Amino acid sequence: MIKSFIFCFVCLVSFTCAGQQFNLCSDFPGGNIQVDKIKGDTVWIRPDLRDTEGDWFYWCFAVNNAKGKTLTFVFSKPNVLTSKGPATSLDGGNHWNWINPDNSWDSSFSYTFKSNSEVRFSMGMPYTQKHFQQFIGAYLKSEFVTIDTLATTKAGRSVERVIIKPKSGTVKYKVLITTRHHACEMMGNYEMEGIIVEILKDEWLKNNVEFCLIPFMDKDGVENGDQGKNRIPHDHNRDYTGVSIYSSVAALRDWVPAWSESKLVVTLDLHCPWIKAENNENIYVVGSPDEKIAVQQRLFCNILKSTNHGELKISEKSYFPYGKDWNSAEKATPGLTFGKWTAQLEGVKLPISIEFPYANNEGQTITQENARTFGIDLTKAIKKYLMQL
Ligand SMILES: [Zn+2]
Repeated sequence: MIKSFIFCFVCLVSFTCAGQQFNLCSDFPGGNIQVDKIKGDTVWIRPDLRDTEGDWFYWCFAVNNAKGKTLTFVFSKPNVLTSKGPATSLDGGNHWNWINPDNSWDSSFSYTFKSNSEVRFSMGMPYTQKHFQQFIGAYLKSEFVTIDTLATTKAGRSVERVIIKPKSGTVKYKVLITTRHHACEMMGNYEMEGIIVEILKDEWLKNNVEFCLIPFMDKDGVENGDQGKNRIPHDHNRDYTGVSIYSSVAALRDWVPAWSESKLVVTLDLHCPWIKAENNENIYVVGSPDEKIAVQQRLFCNILKSTNHGELKISEKSYFPYGKDWNSAEKATPGLTFGKWTAQLEGVKLPISIEFPYANNEGQTITQENARTFGIDLTKAIKKYLMQL
């Protein structure tokens, strides 16, 4: 009784279909939806763009109290479903599955509710602070791992900084890994989980390399369910020029140069591309305009091919050279990115940004688990790269 009372309070809309009252909610971490119209058992919806310049596609909502009903959700705009369709979660957003990845999807979907319990729907597999806390707890028992606060956000949230370093204090190399510069790009966190697991399994890595990992560069955006990409006046990944307006970016720029001690050689920023279509449905490294860096990036891609033992396979498309499509001077958005900023730091040889699709890797269906496994492959590649220096 108490639970349904709370849901009534936080629901975005309540509507009645065949005499039954449903609740459609987005008032939870990562929630995002706008309801345009409801008629019978059909709901017209679209992503809430908030302070996004132009268009984007992230959405996530929940439906309660709909046992036995089939509801149809119609999007009022195109390009909001991945080519594998929408994902659902029956356990409050912990586990996500694509409704039917083999279907052909356009801009609507229907769902038959088996119980009155909450069902969450999203364009992807949202990952918020709750997921990170559930994951990292077990690893904080390790003597190699510490966690503190890089910065406090405008809304008062902590931006976590995870350090994994040798107990001996002797550090040969340092590696900096970030994700969620763009709030909606949740797949980076699954990769990061795999990365942390693999570092702590590997004797050479944890005894020679110090890692700094920032799981949520735009923590407020992640928790609020923002798009984050192309945020006005600029997003977190264009905040590395002049005076940073976001506390996480300002703190990182302030802290990393001294932390580095010229041992920082690899920086990795994990992103997701556009929702679907060409150049957005394969895993790739974004090529640098600097040929010296591009050589190292291509070397890394070759190494990654040799460590790519997980389910998700990279192909010859895994290097997206500078000058192609959006990766060019003509199409560049003003403002220095994390990758370009770290490329300027003393000692950094391999600054890389990786684009990892939301749903489809060259026909392979992406899941939470195989995304984590790709993080393991990435870590093995980082090790191999460092060992050949
Ligand atoms: Zn991005």
